Amino acid sequence: MSRKHAFQFLDLPRTMPQRIPVELRTSGDWGELYGKFGKEDAQYQAGRCLDCGNPYCSWKCPVHNAIPQWLQLVQENRIHEAATLCHSTNPLPEVCGRVCPQDRLCEGSCTLEEFGAVTIGAVEKYIVDTALATGWRPDMAAVESTGKRVAVIGAGPAGLACADRLAHAGVQAVVYDRYEQIGGLLQFGIPSFKLDKSVISRRRNVLEGMGVQFRLGVEIGRDVTLETLLADYDAVFVGTGAYRYTDGGLPGQDLKNVLPALPFLVQNSRIVSGSDAHGRPIAGWEDTLALPDLEGKRVVVLGGGDTGMDCVRSAVRLGAARVTCAYRRDEASMPGSAREVANAREEGVRFLFNRQPLSIEAGADDEAIGVTVVETHLGEPDAQGRRNAVPIEGSESLLEADVVIIAFGFSPTAPAWLTAQGVEAGNNGRILAGGQGRLPFQTAHPRLFAGGDAVRGADLVVTAVAEGRDAAAAIVALITA
Ligand code: FAD
Ligand code: SF4
Repeated sequence: MSRKHAFQFLDLPRTMPQRIPVELRTSGDWGELYGKFGKEDAQYQAGRCLDCGNPYCSWKCPVHNAIPQWLQLVQENRIHEAATLCHSTNPLPEVCGRVCPQDRLCEGSCTLEEFGAVTIGAVEKYIVDTALATGWRPDMAAVESTGKRVAVIGAGPAGLACADRLAHAGVQAVVYDRYEQIGGLLQFGIPSFKLDKSVISRRRNVLEGMGVQFRLGVEIGRDVTLETLLADYDAVFVGTGAYRYTDGGLPGQDLKNVLPALPFLVQNSRIVSGSDAHGRPIAGWEDTLALPDLEGKRVVVLGGGDTGMDCVRSAVRLGAARVTCAYRRDEASMPGSAREVANAREEGVRFLFNRQPLSIEAGADDEAIGVTVVETHLGEPDAQGRRNAVPIEGSESLLEADVVIIAFGFSPTAPAWLTAQGVEAGNNGRILAGGQGRLPFQTAHPRLFAGGDAVRGADLVVTAVAEGRDAAAAIVALITA
């Protein structure tokens, strides 16, 4: 079917694929929230694109996807060609189609926004899921081996994107990860209701089919040294992510039943996906593997970002009686995706805006019984232009809770085994790469490159993909020169 007419968007509203009914979600269904478009729906939604000639969507997309072009191919039912085009800019398009905050990226800058943006993410997911299910695979026929080998540390989106592009360039990529599965936070951070874990195992098959090798359950700096990798490979890419928990210094944060967000999500992901529940915990958080039972409990989540939203929605699925998110600024200032906030609200999460936590209170046996919060108003903008939350004197109150989850964010830490090789780190723990006359993503050590959250600080899947992809190009330029 070709496009019906240019103003199709006026006749046909923007729609998303069907969602799992809220009753199922609140009674413990961990399935992906959004279903898949059928062929007709995908074609109609793709046909809403105006092909406006000035594709802001592509510019706003961090990997600069050729969005109008693949929407046109969908209308013509040329799905394998659309998948090839998607992969030409994005090594993990089916993942980004699912987890990108599209309302802040491609769809947020669609010319049609006033009439409902084109449903870009869901169509991207449709293209790649359909193509892979019908036998499409990356075409490696023209790839000639360079005889070069590169080690990739970290099988998160940055490492996977880097490995994909190395394979396309005829370089043998060997990916090391301390976990038992690939994906990094795709596997162990982002809950399955946003990203089904079968998507990651399918991508692993695709990458292995391209010749990428994985060495899982291997921690660099502990099981294998960086010196060994530098001796065995032509270059090394470091995509180790950001796992240092932002310490709010909240009195009472060490009480029982107070959990940092990431270990909570990681361990829960392991249990839900049926992977090794006794796998290696996050370094430094070894004692957080035992999750408290949330059934019937009152859960308070502190923090209003995407991680906070994943925590509240996981708590709902774990049977919590009441889930509250307390955030110190107003709703408009929330850093996460508005779509995720709407989904959480629909699942019964209560939001308390303009509430700043002051301390977590202790009951008997040092168990948390609640959080003392103070109301705030928004004051002057800070250095980043965000308005400060100013406490209102005398407005303190206690939010009762059986379990408190702290989701204040994460930062990277440059490991000692890396800095020992001369690699520099900023004082916020970010690995310094690129600039200073170096190749893009090259560190102070000429054969060590880095990208993703380890370099940018905690950010997005699609920005990690973009950096892994572009770092691979720089590595290939160096080792094949
Ligand atoms: P990671 O995904 O963290 O991968 C790093 C990998 O390196 C890990 O697998 C780790 O095990 C491995 N590693 C580290 N050190 C070593 C070592 N010494 N040896 C071997 N392996 C090592 N982004 C979105 O776009 N959309 C979302 O909806 C979203 N939701 C999120 C929800 C949560 C709870 C969190 C925490 C983040 C979320 N993000 C989301 C952010 C996104 O997941 C990250 O920005 C992205 O995964 C970063 O990719 P990366 O490859 O740099 O790092
Ligand atoms: Fe939009 Fe993300 Fe896909 Fe880019 S990669 S088109 S930002 S969903």
